[in-house]
Amino acid sequence: MIRPGSTLGILGGGQLGRMIAIAAAQLGLRVHVYAPEDNSPAFEVAAEHTVAAYDDEAALVRFAKAVDVITYEFENVPGATAATLSAHATLAPNARALAITQDRFEEKSFIADLGIPVAPFGLVSSPSELQDAVAAIGVPSVLKTRRFGYDGKGQAMIRPGDDPAAAWDALGRAPAILEGFVPFEREVSVVAARTRDGAFAAYDLCANEHRDHILALTRVPAGVSAETEAQAILIGRQIADALDYVGVLAVEMFLVREPGSERLVVNEIAPRVHNSGHWTLGGARTSQFEQHVRAVCGWPLGATERLGRVEMENLIGNDADRWEAFLAEPGAQLHLYGKAQARPGRKMGHVTRVFPEEA
Ligand code: AMP
Repeated sequence: MIRPGSTLGILGGGQLGRMIAIAAAQLGLRVHVYAPEDNSPAFEVAAEHTVAAYDDEAALVRFAKAVDVITYEFENVPGATAATLSAHATLAPNARALAITQDRFEEKSFIADLGIPVAPFGLVSSPSELQDAVAAIGVPSVLKTRRFGYDGKGQAMIRPGDDPAAAWDALGRAPAILEGFVPFEREVSVVAARTRDGAFAAYDLCANEHRDHILALTRVPAGVSAETEAQAILIGRQIADALDYVGVLAVEMFLVREPGSERLVVNEIAPRVHNSGHWTLGGARTSQFEQHVRAVCGWPLGATERLGRVEMENLIGNDADRWEAFLAEPGAQLHLYGKAQARPGRKMGHVTRVFPEEA
């Protein structure tokens, strides 16, 4: 049992780590952030930080011994790093959740084995496997590297008439999967938390709009039927249970609308707090960051009730230059991540707007 006054270790120093650290401080925890970059946004709001590489075994052991429980803010924590940390401290979510979600083939296979719909997919490790996969799945389809893909990076569309080999070359011939293109009407995500003893709490389903492959806007409610929403949340719970998951996770899904029906296809799992859950900070009784801290510490989960109709707008690159206008806007809640340099595509902050629920 972790008590207030204990130290939460966070691996990764970006905005997600920063917002987890702020929530932890509010609950009387000390925070120690471990990250390789010496100007990490999360350092500014943590009691302690370590600047070291993720493969610096001695530094990892020192960090693990200095904290009471460890969590992370990104899914590409190397397996060896997770193993080292787990040997000396409790790591939540567990190492298996990392291993599965950082490899698209493992992830898709895991989801499909639970009987949950995913796009048709095939393993592509060679040009001949690519040919076989294209023959089996058809086009349009999406070639994705097994590892290290995010925000549309590590992905190439194969359209009718395209040479599949060009997509394979574009991804540097890295091990990949080919996925059938899903003709989705909108993208939605379940953000939910699970505790060690199996308690589960989901937020309302949200709808996500991307610009240049980066999340631009999240809206809640998601605009789907009550049955579809319940099914999405059930899928989130099945996945969390099957991973014996502890903490907040997000499950990204495609909504396919056909005459008279709605269908969900799971795209991916994020074993962490997620950008599509930022609306909960100010838009729900308990933010996803506080919820994650509660779950990781073995504390009761907070209420996930929504406080109105909510919109979350990401501030990307120069968008954050408009900070004064956001501050002047009645009811808008501005969050800035303290990043010195605004580069194109870089997430600099977000704005949340809560409106009265429509009747
Ligand atoms: P991902 O990196 O898997 O989250 O994919 C990034 C974005 O590419 C998704 O949010 C979708 O907009 C699009 N996308 C990925 N996979 C597919 C697919 N199989 N069918 C249609 N669109 C996709």
